[in-house]
Amino acid sequence: MFFIFLIIIIVSGHFARAIKSPPDADSIYLKKIDELFEKQEITAKEIELLYKEIHYHELVKFYENKKQNALFWPIPAKWLPDSILLDLSYNFSDYCNPIQGVITSGFGWRDGRMHKGIDIDLRKGDPVKAVADGTVRFAGKCGGWGNVVVIDHGHGIETLYAHLSKILVKQGQQVLSEQILGKGGNTGRSRGPHLHFELRYLGHPVNPLSLIKFEEAELYENKVLCMKNNRDELFIFPAHARIHLSEKGENWRKIAKSCGKNIKELYHLNGIIRPLYLKPNTFVRVE
Ligand SMILES: [Zn+2]
Repeated sequence: MFFIFLIIIIVSGHFARAIKSPPDADSIYLKKIDELFEKQEITAKEIELLYKEIHYHELVKFYENKKQNALFWPIPAKWLPDSILLDLSYNFSDYCNPIQGVITSGFGWRDGRMHKGIDIDLRKGDPVKAVADGTVRFAGKCGGWGNVVVIDHGHGIETLYAHLSKILVKQGQQVLSEQILGKGGNTGRSRGPHLHFELRYLGHPVNPLSLIKFEEAELYENKVLCMKNNRDELFIFPAHARIHLSEKGENWRKIAKSCGKNIKELYHLNGIIRPLYLKPNTFVRVE
């Protein structure tokens, strides 16, 4: 019996793809410090940059420890640097959409409430998949989300899948991209079956459609830039995108015209589903 069991493990292990784990951040920074101080000359700027990176890395570690006690424990945005370059090639290299379907509601303010994710239409019972490799941080019932699964993808990046009719994973379980987490449904505060999908960075919700090309089910780029404005709102963009900071009196139409695009193209680039009021000091992707 034991041998049969062992053979099953070996055979199944042979076919299973291993989970890619992000490189250990501590060792990356130790290496960077070593490299810098092995140089003949170091500029004050180089030391300052390294200091900023290490400070930021400590914040990520702080979040990793704090979140054990709460579903999301956002790092206050004022503690974060104005812009952070993130490499998602480990976390999100095998990205897939959680479900193929029509997006019925986008990220952002609607009816005086902040919608922290996107809504994707589905039929009750449709399979909902993990968008990338990671570890299940939460799987269970939680408030308006109903049955919800939270996946930790490392380095402060997490995804959330809400209103499920059935959960098929357990807390602490490692999951692979495309693995079925549960079945779509209508639990919690929900009108009709749909998937509420969130992308969070250090506990802060960001617009998933500003880095995901949903129709193609892929990322714009593996490297992304996370930026905060003077209201401490976080924005996430592909690293090579051209970004404009909106000014008082500007609107989407004006910006679209000045960059030679139509308003629909500009909305699409910024992951906006329905017309949205543009506040001053909002980061807008223009290219
Ligand atoms: Zn929603």
